[in-house]
Amino acid sequence: MQQDTFFEGTGAAADFIRRVQAFIHDELDPLAREHRISHDNGAPRPLLQQVWKLSHQRGFYGMTLPGALGGAGFGLHDHALIKEAIYATGSPFAPHVLGELSGPPRLGALVRSATPEQMERLVLPVARAEKAICFAITEPEAGSDAGAVQTRAKPDGDGFVLNGVKRFISGAPFCDMAIVIAATGDDPLRRETTAFLVERERPGFRVEAGYRTMAGQSHTGNIHLEDCRIPAANQLGERGRGLALALGRITVNRLLHCPAMLGLARLALQDACAHALRRRQFGQPIAGFQAVQHLLADMATDLAAARALMLGVARRLEHDADARGEASMAKLFCSEAAFRIADRAVQVLGGEGIVQGSRVEFLFRMLRMYRVLTGTSEIQRNTIARELLAPRQEETTT
Ligand SMILES: Cc1cc2nc3c(=O)[nH]c(=O)nc-3n(C[C@H](O)[C@H](O)[C@H](O)COP(=O)(O)OP(=O)(O)OC[C@H]3O[C@@H](n4cnc5c(N)ncnc54)[C@H](O)[C@@H]3O)c2cc1C
Repeated sequence: MQQDTFFEGTGAAADFIRRVQAFIHDELDPLAREHRISHDNGAPRPLLQQVWKLSHQRGFYGMTLPGALGGAGFGLHDHALIKEAIYATGSPFAPHVLGELSGPPRLGALVRSATPEQMERLVLPVARAEKAICFAITEPEAGSDAGAVQTRAKPDGDGFVLNGVKRFISGAPFCDMAIVIAATGDDPLRRETTAFLVERERPGFRVEAGYRTMAGQSHTGNIHLEDCRIPAANQLGERGRGLALALGRITVNRLLHCPAMLGLARLALQDACAHALRRRQFGQPIAGFQAVQHLLADMATDLAAARALMLGVARRLEHDADARGEASMAKLFCSEAAFRIADRAVQVLGGEGIVQGSRVEFLFRMLRMYRVLTGTSEIQRNTIARELLAPRQEETTT
């Protein structure tokens, strides 16, 4: 496919992308080769820490933070383009360059609501790549219905005692601390929740890792809290505002999953085009068959449409427009389009696309997951329909 020389972002974003691509190519790719790290074979904690620190030293890791904390000050539109470019490198370290799994982007709305003491103890060590954090809301009985959390935080002396299980938590296997959303009300019908910081070394905090997702990765784990005692200073934000804090940036978060999917979908399209030109059958490259051309054309059209939607919503959000429904449309359309692209890439590669170890085989498994993560496609449709039919209702799903 022809190299696209048109860039939609600012000059500063173009420069950032050039530098981060060079960092991945010159420093992270050799590290991945040396330690045999792949998408299916994740890095151990010490190696991840090395990547976070390197990215921090080069000025990339804290990019998403406010300027006062070392952020780069990019708007959402540039942010989406930068993230897309990082994932389109195909590096197995891509989620660790900006720290989506356990770094600054996980802090979310906390950056605004942390007390000065929490800023020192929680926010700054994460911003400096010294500590890893995960965000734990989902439970065995509370998935799409995030407000149904059953983990309880009971006031006890000068603090709280937590009991419950958090499930499917990204970054849990290598976290130093977790932001835990727990029930604090006595009336289950009111569903009062509050956010707490829980450090991993506290007695009663146990991470259950060891299961892999269909993409072969083991970034995800469960957190068991058994009579886990924390001080009152570990309460984050106001009592009763846990879900609001967790979902406070959900519109932006939904949008910011799209560049990861589209960066990976771009790789699937590139691999399919390269294979179609190389592979010969019936005396000619399969790219000469119209049926194959149409698969590639549909993939490119899906990618262009998904990017246009993502970048359009990013612009709306930059102008403070209420784009809750549109962000859900972007998450819905980008995740479904990215999976269609991966599916067609497998078809173009034929048997090679099915064999484990081929990149499109991994991309197919990886891109299938985004239709479930951070709000399933059905939940996005619910949000879109709710915005159409009854604007400005409270949102209670992940
Ligand atoms: C790899 C991975 C990483 C994750 N990381 C995190 C994390 O870091 N922190 C965290 O808190 N959570 C995390 N999650 C949890 C994730 O957000 C949930 O899996 C997701 O929200 C769906 O919840 P569920 O799996 O319980 O599915 P369910 O809610 O049980 O949904 C099952 C099916 O029912 C449908 N459904 C449910 N309710 C409705 C409805 N009202 N209308 C229509 N259809 C509906 C769903 O769309 C889906 O098809 C992660 C999950 C995975 C797999």
